[in-house]
Amino acid sequence: MPSDLSPPDAPLFCDRCMRQLHPGRGDLYVVRIEAVADPSPPEFTAEDLARDHREELARLVAQMQNLSAQEAMNQVFRRLTVFLCNNCYQQWIENPVGR
Ligand SMILES: [Zn+2]
Repeated sequence: MPSDLSPPDAPLFCDRCMRQLHPGRGDLYVVRIEAVADPSPPEFTAEDLARDHREELARLVAQMQNLSAQEAMNQVFRRLTVFLCNNCYQQWIENPVGR
């Protein structure tokens, strides 16, 4: 059993409908979500290069100082594990972005 599943004695519930799940009986899906802020190298426009960077940098640094390390990290990277019953999974996977 993967180490991120709850131990068998702790009840596991569907994160969507709260139905109880039973690991080992095939009634659940484990959905791992990894979200990363735009990982491509930054693109600079002529306008960016013309801007006064000292002012911009000072503003960003001031902004970062108001965030905890965890908050700053959460802005660029999040990893979630979601447990879904078969029913909720079938609905979710057809429309994961909720359109
Ligand atoms: Zn469910």
